[in-house]
Amino acid sequence: MTIDIITLFPELCERMLSESIVGRARKRGYVQICCRQLREFGEGSHSRVDDTVFGGGKGMLLMAEPIARCIDAVAEQRGALPHIVYMSPRGRVLDQEKVKSLAQNERLLVLCGHYEGVDQRVLDEYGAEEISIGDFVLTGGELPAVILVDAVARMLPGVLSEDACFEEESHYGGLLEYPQYTRPAVWRGREAPEALLSGDHERVRLWRREQSLRLTENVRPDLFARAQLTDEDRRILRESAAKSVENGAGA
Ligand code: SAM
Repeated sequence: MTIDIITLFPELCERMLSESIVGRARKRGYVQICCRQLREFGEGSHSRVDDTVFGGGKGMLLMAEPIARCIDAVAEQRGALPHIVYMSPRGRVLDQEKVKSLAQNERLLVLCGHYEGVDQRVLDEYGAEEISIGDFVLTGGELPAVILVDAVARMLPGVLSEDACFEEESHYGGLLEYPQYTRPAVWRGREAPEALLSGDHERVRLWRREQSLRLTENVRPDLFARAQLTDEDRRILRESAAKSVENGAGA
């Protein structure tokens, strides 16, 4: 997969996407990421990329033409127009489903806004998809772009050691992940759950599923309401509720 990021701060994105798992994935060729300086496509001797907003109002807007020139250059280099995402607080809020579908693209282009944002016409011209990382406003699209690219890159085949690494994680299957523990088995008097130390794989699986279900129900009832529960899930929840009542009655 190729991912191009159009930004006024390519070094910022480059730095964050060169480390750890994504950095290694780039070196191993699982994903090519290129951070492009919008200013190189700016106008005049000052490489101007912004102007005042029609109709008045504070702040500057990124102009359509420099962005269009940069997108065209990317399309030419990549051999086709990538799927274009504009990071924007007006967009649909990013979730794991969206990440999964974005990871299906061969080419992705992520546009970072700045100041008041970008001229609407360039978004319309290229059919850009607007994606937000949450209902709040940041100063620029670089952090949102890095978040999106990190989330997409780790879904690509080969990037994580096994697909199971993300398949059991929070949000992938619509539930939150169960709590996890490592050595020592007792830390400051707190014991790791006995089921996890039992060596009984089926017991471990059922314990984890129960925890995932209960955690999601308590912390994210919105996710829980949409989760596709199996007959086994319903049985686990019934038994879990019965155990809680027993423990409560004994207390
Ligand atoms: N005037 C815009 C509005 O009210 O929708 C906000 C512009 S914001 C100050 C500057 C840039 O930061 C945006 O163009 C966008 O690229 C990025 N940005 C800010 N908040 C964001 C969010 N929650 N998700 C994604 N991108 C965001």
